Amino acid sequence: ASTAALEDFRRWLSSHGAVEGKASPAAVPEGLGLVAARDLPRGEVVAEVPKKLWMDADAVAASDIGRACGGGGELRPWVAVALLLLREVARGADSPWAPYLAILPRQTDSTIFWSEEELLEIQGTQLLSTTMGVKDYVQSEFESVEAEIINANKDLFPGTITFDDFLWAFGILRSRVFPELRGDKLALIPFADLVNHSADITSEGSSWEIKGKGLFGREVMFSLRTPVDVKSGKQIYIQYDLNKSNAELALDYGFIESNPSRDSYTVTLEISESDPFYGDKLDIAELNGLGESAYFDIVLNEPLPPQMITYLRLLCIGGTDAFLLEALFRNSVWGHLEQPVSPDNEESICKVMRDACKSALGAYHTTIQEDEELLETENLQPRLKIAIGVRAGEKKVLQQIDDIFKQREEELDGLEYYQERRLKDLGLVGDNGEIIFWET
Ligand code: SAM
Repeated sequence: ASTAALEDFRRWLSSHGAVEGKASPAAVPEGLGLVAARDLPRGEVVAEVPKKLWMDADAVAASDIGRACGGGGELRPWVAVALLLLREVARGADSPWAPYLAILPRQTDSTIFWSEEELLEIQGTQLLSTTMGVKDYVQSEFESVEAEIINANKDLFPGTITFDDFLWAFGILRSRVFPELRGDKLALIPFADLVNHSADITSEGSSWEIKGKGLFGREVMFSLRTPVDVKSGKQIYIQYDLNKSNAELALDYGFIESNPSRDSYTVTLEISESDPFYGDKLDIAELNGLGESAYFDIVLNEPLPPQMITYLRLLCIGGTDAFLLEALFRNSVWGHLEQPVSPDNEESICKVMRDACKSALGAYHTTIQEDEELLETENLQPRLKIAIGVRAGEKKVLQQIDDIFKQREEELDGLEYYQERRLKDLGLVGDNGEIIFWET
C-alpha cells in the first residue's frame, strides 16, 4: 500500500469515529501492521472500530447484494461477505469502504495462492491435499454463486468476476477474520485486522472484545487490546491461535513457526468394509463415540492419543481374539482393548502403523536431513521456507510414530495380555505368574 493510500485510510478511520490515536497503520516486514504511537501498557485498548465500518452479515443485508438476494441470509456467511467484498471492489471509489479496500493485500503466502511449481515443494504432504481440498471447495462454491447470483445480477457485477477473484476474497477472509468470529458472526474489521501475529505472545485468551452490544443506544465497537507492553514506535502483535498446526497456519495465513508443538500429522484409521467383523467392530466403535473412520492429530514430542491405540487394537482384532467381539462382551470390550489383547494383536497394530508410516514417508521427495540443511540457506523465499518447514515437520511426526511402534514391537514379550489379566482377576495367578491351586 502506498503512503497516500495509508493516509486516506487513516483519515477514513478518524472521520468514522474509529479510535486510532494509539496505534497507527504502517508498513512493516509482515506487510502492513499496527505501530504504537506512544508507550502502551499491557491491556491498553489500541484500536476501537465502530460496527458501521465492519463488513459482516448486517452490512450484506443493507447492501445491494442483500437487496438482490433476499437479505443475503440464504447464502453461507462467508460467501455473503465475499460477495460484498467483490461488489465493493467493483464499485471502486463509490464504495464506502474504498479506503480500506485499497490497502488490502493482493495475495498472502497462503498455499491457496501458490503456483503449480511452488506446490511441487509440498509434494506428498497433508498440507498439499488440504490445500487442494480447500480450493476444490471454493471452486464449487464459486460455480454455484456465479450461476445463481453473479450472472443473475449483472448490474451489481458489471465486470467479470473470476474464480481467482473469488479465491482472493476467500483468502482475505481466511487470513483476517478473528478466529472466534465464526458462522454468522463472521466479520472483516478494518484497522483491527492489521494486527500481525507473533510466536512470542503465548498468553491464553483473546486480545479483543465486542463492546456496547447496542444496549442503551450505545454504538457497538470492536475493541483490540495489546497483550503486552509496547514501546512507542514498536509493532503491536497478538497471538492468532495457539492451537493451529503449522499446516493450518500455512493454509490460513501464509506463515509458520519453528515451534515443534506446531508440527503435526493427522492419522486416519478406518474399519475396512471387507473386514469379516466389520459390523461388530463398527458397533463397538460407535458405542464408544468413534465411527467407521477416526482421525487422530499427532503432535511432535507428545504422546499418542490413548484412544488411537484402543481403536487400532479394535481394527486389528481377529483370529483367536475374535471372541471379544461377541455381543456378550459389548459393554466391556472397550476396557479390554485399552490394554494389550494378545501378542498377535499387538504385533499387528505395530505392523499396520509402521507400514503406513513407511509408505507416507516414501511419498515425500526429500528427507528430514535434506530439509534441515535447506532451512539453513540464507534469504529463503517465504513460500519455500513454509514448504520446507511443513514437510520436515510432517516427516518428523511420522518418524516419531514409527519409532513408537518399533519400540513396542521390541517389547511385545514383556507386555501383559488379556488372558493373563483375566486369570489374575479370577485369582488364579499370583503376581509372580505362578498358578494358584485351591487347598482341598
Ligand atoms: N499484515 C497484514 C496486512 O498487510 O494487511 C495484516 C494482518 S492480517 C490479519 C494477516 C496476514 O498478515 C497474514 O495472512 C500474513 O500475510 C501477515 N502476517 C501476520 N503475522 C505474520 C507473521 N508473524 N509473519 C509473516 N506474516 C504475517
